[in-house]
This record gives sequence, structure tokens and C-alpha cells, in this order.
Amino acid sequence: MTTLPAPLLAVTEARLRDGRVVDVHCAGGAVTALVPTGTLPVPPGAELVQAAGGLVTEPFVDAHLHLDKVRTLPLIGDAALQAYTADGMGDSARGIDLARAVKQHYRIETLLPCIRQALADGLRNGVQHVQAFADVDTAAGLTGVRAVLAAREEFRGRVDVSVVAFPQDGVLRDPGAAELVEEAMAAGADVVGGIPWIEAGTADQEAHVEWACALAARLGRRVAMLTDDAPDPAYDTTRMLAEAMRRHGLEGRGVACHARAVGHYDDDRQNALLDLAREVGLGLVSDPHTGSVVLPVERALQRGVAVALGQDDIEDAYYPFGRHNLLEVAFLAAHLLDMRSAPQLEVLVDLVTTSAARVLGLPGYGLREGSPADLLVHDAARTVDLLARHEPPRVDIRAGQIVS
Ligand SMILES: [Zn+2]
Repeated sequence: MTTLPAPLLAVTEARLRDGRVVDVHCAGGAVTALVPTGTLPVPPGAELVQAAGGLVTEPFVDAHLHLDKVRTLPLIGDAALQAYTADGMGDSARGIDLARAVKQHYRIETLLPCIRQALADGLRNGVQHVQAFADVDTAAGLTGVRAVLAAREEFRGRVDVSVVAFPQDGVLRDPGAAELVEEAMAAGADVVGGIPWIEAGTADQEAHVEWACALAARLGRRVAMLTDDAPDPAYDTTRMLAEAMRRHGLEGRGVACHARAVGHYDDDRQNALLDLAREVGLGLVSDPHTGSVVLPVERALQRGVAVALGQDDIEDAYYPFGRHNLLEVAFLAAHLLDMRSAPQLEVLVDLVTTSAARVLGLPGYGLREGSPADLLVHDAARTVDLLARHEPPRVDIRAGQIVS
């Protein structure tokens, strides 16, 4: 018979989304017991959190956030935002070009307070994992990525920030950006970024994908790209990314964000692409609130692809709102993706928790015995209330300690 280490924290009467009501005991940063309520005594001295029948979930995962750009919209006005969203996103590339103007305002001391605020807001809303894109280009240099790297260190132990060195203006269109991405990786960025669809023509798009995947493979890192952010079925860079992942042995280590053009493919082409994504372990991130053209999320899930929702933007040149609240993102998605039935509401929560963790390949993520003691205690007792109210969790627990 083995004895468990004494719990330092116990969450009692925790309602799991599968309906079980359990006590969760945590010690040494891990979940040591997850048992039906009242079946294992809470030892004296343990910190007690009474969930009182409220839902207890895994922490939220934000699989896609442009963290360097948070709250930069007031710096440049909304001409870029208008161009990005007008005409059903038909001229979104011009919006990206206009948004480049914000880079003249890039100073670490200007960006860092907004970045800190976004991570603190996220933490209050239960977000403990963020895949953070930071622009690396000849206008921004490494300023954006250095600001995000500094914030990553400040929040270490409370929020895991995975930093994507992201060449927002392309690498062939913006000579010098590729070298800057390599510098950003050497400076501590975690993931090689890309945006192949912004390049001029198929050959340059292929070259962009090839460059990024070759670099990721050489460095032993993951790759994350923005693909096909326009309502035009001629765009094909999500497939290019999946093929390149296979060529470079990056199976299970790639993410495509936006991938909006896929929604304009015919059924056969959609299915072929999604099957390829599943085979190579390419995760997809959809952001239906930041643009009117959307990835077919439910079809992707039905074909076994890992899918997440992301906050994407917080008051920047692409989107005027955003509170770093993944429940709010899921609530918006319920309307925008037409997902309102009870089973679909459960899927929406998966898209910002377990499914998002699959997209990012987070090791150990989950609420079970032996997993890290990272969990959220909510006031809501039903998933429908969790989404409808999209309120911050009552208690945010990280490694068995209350952090918010
Ligand atoms: Zn984005």
C-alpha cells in the first residue's frame, strides 16, 4: 500500500463537465487525488477551496494572440481595420499593409505595459497558456519580440507564454525579415512564425513555407503560421504548410491560424485538406470574431483535426475589442459558428481548453490524477451558464497555488 504526499490544497465539491462531483487534492504542484466528494478526508492544514457544486475546469489556452499589438489601435486610427474587414475581407492584405504604420510607434517601454495588462487580464480570466505572436520585420526590428520576451519572464510560473517570431510582412516581400526571425529565435523566441499567403504568388508562398519549416526543423522547434486570411479559394498555403511539415519531419509540431480561405473550398477539397492536416498533426486555430470568413470548425473536428479558438487581437489594427477572455471568444463563436446545442456548447469549451492544448502540444495538460494542479473554480454550475455569463473564474489555481 502506498501513501500519498499530504495535500497542500483541496478543492471540494467540484463539478466536472462530465457530471461527476469530486474532491481534488493537490500537493507538490500536482493533482494527487480526484475522488467522489467526501470519500477521502481533507487532512487538517490543507488550504480549502469550496467549489460548492460549481464547475471546475482545466485552465484556458489561448492558441493565437498578437501580443505585441495589444491596444495599439489608438496609435494609428482605424483605416487599417476598415481595409482588413471591408467587402467581406476581400482586401484584407491591404489592411495588413496599412497596419505596418504602427511600427513607427514601437518602443519596448510603450508596448510592455499593454502586454503586461493583457496577460494579467488573461490570468484573471483563467488563461494560463498563450501562444503569443510578436512581429519581427524590418519596420519593427526585434522591438516587439523583445517586449513580449520580457513579459514572458515576468509571468513565468503563472502564465506559460510561447513566443512566435512572426514575420508579419512576409520574408520575400520584406528582405531582411528572415534574418531577423533567426535573431529572434537566438534571443529566446520559442516558435518559428510565418505568413505565406501574404507573399506575391504561389512560388514565393511555397518558398516562404519551405524557409520557415526548414528553420524550425534545424532548430528543433515548432512552427506556427497565419494561412489564407482572405475569402479566396485560390489560396492554398494551409496545404503547403502541411506538406512541408511532412517533408521536414515536423509532424505534430505545426499550427495554422485563421485559414479562412478553407471555408471557400468545395467539399472534396476541404475534406482532403483536413485529412492531410490530421495525418501530419497540423493544428488549426479559428478566430471567427475577428473576420467574417471562417474555417469550417465542426467539419475539421469531425475529421479528427485538433482545433482551437484564439483571442487573436485586443484593440489593435484588426479588431477593436478583446478582454483576453476565452469564454467570451467561445460565446461569440457560438453565434458566429452557429453552435448552440448542448453538445456544441461542450465542444466550444473544449476549443479553449483540451482541444486547444492538443493544438499547441502542451505536455501534461488535463484535469486528472498525476497532472499539474492547474485548474479553475467557476461560480457557474452548468456549461451554458459558463458561456452565457463568460465571467472570470472565482479561483484560478496554478501548480496547486491560488494565483488569482
Ligand atoms: Zn491573427
